[in-house]
Amino acid sequence: MADIETLGQLWQEGWRISAKCPDRRRDGLKTRRHQCGWKAELDLRTLLVTRGPGFPLDRLSAVVMCPRCKRRDIVLSYSAPAEPVTRLMTG
Ligand SMILES: [Zn+2]
Repeated sequence: MADIETLGQLWQEGWRISAKCPDRRRDGLKTRRHQCGWKAELDLRTLLVTRGPGFPLDRLSAVVMCPRCKRRDIVLSYSAPAEPVTRLMTG
């Protein structure tokens, strides 16, 4: 992974972002079962339009929220493109 630090770089390299709401909650000493477990692939183009291509990835976790249970500590995971991005080599 070449230094990818922004949404724009992630998009250009063909990476994808998935979000998952943890299915258990740590509450003091007790670990409670949390019944959400919502997950989805994020629409990178929408993020690009709303946040801008220069938006740093390390700030993304601060602005996401689970739409089902409204928790803010959902887990983001980045996945590399399944096939290598082929670039046109001219000459
Ligand atoms: Zn949730």
